[in-house]
Amino acid sequence: MTCLKPESRIPRNDGSFNAPADMRPRAPGVTPTALKNGGRVRAANQPAEGLYLPNNNFQAPHMRSPDYVQMSTAAAITLGVMPGKMHRCGCTRCLNLLLTYPEGCRANCAYCGLARHREAERDYADRNFIRVDWPAVPMAQVIDIVAAQGEATPFHRMCISMITHPRSDADTVSVLEAWTKKIDPSSLPVSILSNPTTMERSDVKRLHELGSDIFTVALDAATPEIFDRTRGKGVQSPHSWTKYWEILEDARDIFGPRKFGAHIIVGMGETESEALNLVQRIVDLGGHSHMFCFFPERGSLMDHLPATPRDQWRRVQLARYLIDYRGVRVDHMRFDEEGRVADYGLPKGELDAIIAEGVAFRTSGCPGKFADDVSACDRPYGDSPPSNIASYPFQPNKNDIGGIRKQLGMPRRPTFQ
Ligand code: SF4
Repeated sequence: MTCLKPESRIPRNDGSFNAPADMRPRAPGVTPTALKNGGRVRAANQPAEGLYLPNNNFQAPHMRSPDYVQMSTAAAITLGVMPGKMHRCGCTRCLNLLLTYPEGCRANCAYCGLARHREAERDYADRNFIRVDWPAVPMAQVIDIVAAQGEATPFHRMCISMITHPRSDADTVSVLEAWTKKIDPSSLPVSILSNPTTMERSDVKRLHELGSDIFTVALDAATPEIFDRTRGKGVQSPHSWTKYWEILEDARDIFGPRKFGAHIIVGMGETESEALNLVQRIVDLGGHSHMFCFFPERGSLMDHLPATPRDQWRRVQLARYLIDYRGVRVDHMRFDEEGRVADYGLPKGELDAIIAEGVAFRTSGCPGKFADDVSACDRPYGDSPPSNIASYPFQPNKNDIGGIRKQLGMPRRPTFQ
């Protein structure tokens, strides 16, 4: 298994940002009734037998949470249940566990490989998500391996990722309870990547009481209009911006400062100013934002649209880091008439020094054991191919920083005035 896959048909935008009018998802097609709700898998009715690698092509309706979870290819390699190598990084520090059901996620988010509209085309356990395959593993096996590793575990954090499914709330509780029976969450903290659509405040409270440490909400879209267009009514999906904010504010009250956050995808048609005002709003509430660069996921309703141009992505990535970790406010920054960052609100020397440190360009997410601003969740190549890295899953070297500066429209090395 390798992360170096041919990516010959990635749509490109040679302009300097993804304009709102261009980023329109396709309409979902009609799924034949027999294929709805995992129909093909239920009809085949094969037994679940341990580790399932995507494209094994046996269809096991009992391979479902809480007995099974899926995990990213990087997590499976790090856990040792799958052979393989990741380009320039040995392992991931976050064990991301995704709830799994043969009926799949019941939402239809336009940028997502797990979306419901794919039912006819691909069984749930075989779908790609954030560019990679997600093998399914028995939960008991996962717990036994990590419990046996003890202090020596390579993981700094575990994350339970919910999807939109009627069993998702109850099964998140079951997975968390099974985990904390054998693994102390104060030595290996747990994050929840929530699904607000099915949740109430009491669910957030329960997950906190059961020992989870950080609660995140995947807003994904930076404005209510883009939210509705990509994951609400626009694509026959059940999510609402208002409900997501309600649960985000519940998380702020229950988990407390710096223990909650929101995911934002950059390049789905928002302006840089809109994305960064959202980052500021979340910081003002006491949380952090975790940022993803839009990538046209194969099989999604946005797979014909261009990935975020690197200059747009780098500007927002850098500005988000300054707001989240360096005390710069969005109102210290200046934007041009197209909403692009024109000034980061810092003297040149200070900005050069922060760029040279490189942390701003690493994958953002819940922290691990290295530093508050270094994410355990490094999601190798989740938002770009290795040939043109958006979020660095490792510390970028001098050569990488030179390339990043070029993408930011700066000379490869700082000039001194
Ligand atoms: S709710 Fe999450 S998993 Fe489901 S389609 Fe939307 S982004 Fe994908």
